[in-house]
Amino acid sequence: MLSRIDAPMIDRQDNYPFLLSTAPPNRTQKRLAGGVLAALLVALLITAPFARIQLTGTEILLPAYAAADLLVELLTSALLLASFSVRDSRAVLILSSGYLFSGLLVIPWALTFPGVFTAFGLDANMQSTATIAAVRRLSFPLFVLAYALMKDREAFIRKPQGSIRAVIVGSVALVASLAFGLASIIVRADELPTFMKDARDVASLWRYVPAAAVCLYLAGLVSLWVRRRSTLDLWLMVVLCTLLIELTLLSYLGAGTRLSLGWWAGRFCGLASASMVLLVLLSETTTLQARLARSVHSERLARESRLTAMEALSASIAHEINQPLASMITSASAGLRWLDKETPRVKEAHAALERVVRDGHRARTVIDGIRDLFRKDAQVRVPLDLNRLIRDVLQRSEEEARFHRVSIEADLDGKLPPTTGNPVQLQQVVANLVANAIDAMGAVTDRPRVVYVTSQPKEPGEILVSVKDAGTGLDPNHRDRIFEPFFSTKPAGMGMGLMFSRSIVENHGGRLWATDNVPHGAIFHFTLPGSDVAGTPNNEPIR
Ligand code: ADP
Repeated sequence: MLSRIDAPMIDRQDNYPFLLSTAPPNRTQKRLAGGVLAALLVALLITAPFARIQLTGTEILLPAYAAADLLVELLTSALLLASFSVRDSRAVLILSSGYLFSGLLVIPWALTFPGVFTAFGLDANMQSTATIAAVRRLSFPLFVLAYALMKDREAFIRKPQGSIRAVIVGSVALVASLAFGLASIIVRADELPTFMKDARDVASLWRYVPAAAVCLYLAGLVSLWVRRRSTLDLWLMVVLCTLLIELTLLSYLGAGTRLSLGWWAGRFCGLASASMVLLVLLSETTTLQARLARSVHSERLARESRLTAMEALSASIAHEINQPLASMITSASAGLRWLDKETPRVKEAHAALERVVRDGHRARTVIDGIRDLFRKDAQVRVPLDLNRLIRDVLQRSEEEARFHRVSIEADLDGKLPPTTGNPVQLQQVVANLVANAIDAMGAVTDRPRVVYVTSQPKEPGEILVSVKDAGTGLDPNHRDRIFEPFFSTKPAGMGMGLMFSRSIVENHGGRLWATDNVPHGAIFHFTLPGSDVAGTPNNEPIR
């Protein structure tokens, strides 16, 4: 069975699972809450024997205490309002009002405290401070109680009218006028309940205040306990327990005598209690900020990598398709020229059109190959004759090589282990390496311009293919970057060929790398794993 704290939320809490008022407490938070309570109980036990010791002259510390309490309660209220603005929970708004009300009442309480602001003539009726203290003490648990009772019914309560901002401004104004209005009535009143015997000691009537407060704290604790779900609920329970400890110190162990050690210890307990929710809210804010920063960062990364993948895809398509397209244009223009002659040369035009058809098929196969490369599950692997595949590519590259006055030589070992692969993709790899080798020798005039292609078996059961040239060689400044997408030193280069070739080879379980050729040029090597699968080699030449 689910414990209450893990039970599913019934309202919009699911939309904000990370807020203090919605997220269930984790084990660390529960342990921390237990630890805080234990520490305060120990402090209570240590202080108990000395609680009645009088610390005369300590009034001077009271403004500092009051200022700290005011600040802490106002900040807590502000952070709870911020939480309300995210998720317009009336319960959170009520709790925030409770902190605001209690915080604001600290001002008249401190100002009227006997012997503190006497210089400013602010000593009012002896009963004013105690009456304000009673209102504070009894009102705060009422706000907590209201929070606990409302928090689960929010789904059935109408959304606050008007914008969230108007609700916040309205509630702050209402609470402030209530607090200051009440304080001014108390300060001006001639007749107030006799809570104090003198400036230090409480009268017998006072005993009802802590008793009523204890009842309210316990009622708050019970209603939070049965409805507890969120981290905020957990810490509010700790706050109420701390207030109980404070009351024990102030009113029972310290006998309600002002400025006694028990009284001061109780005050600091109260300050600790007020700070607790604030600290938890602050840590929540920091966590939320960190989470926001992380999610913005990962969202940006995801967008960038999506863009890069799309750029890589489109660039690789352009790179692989440009070659057959250029060749189709050349053949089609040649065909037109043959037909435009006075006596149309039908045979030659026919041959040119056949080349167009062949290149069209090639382009389509290339596109299919690219699609296969990016769709990993759809990769075709067939037994292939690697030497035949290389020879087909070299045959097709011959025309271009002749144009660049480059000769191609091949030394292909007839005893290669059987292998499987995607013939179209592997033809693209060899074609890319040969085209690069031809390009690299474009500026060479002082030595033979030869591309030398070899294939050989390698231990264990691997095949090594090398494409060697006597060109400019690998520039030491760039050799680490030549496999990066879009890296090119050629004026019209796209810088996709090597990246594309390497990913094809690696998808086949092989490696592709480059070394220097001695004394000139570069050698590009790639390996392919041999396969144990016997089958009929089926590397259809690209038509
Ligand atoms: P592209 O050919 O469009 O420039 P590649 O990815 O095929 O793209 O090559 C990237 C770069 O690697 C080339 O621009 C060139 O600088 C370098 N490169 C490739 N092959 C050779 C080679 N055989 N000799 C020297 N440099 C080479």
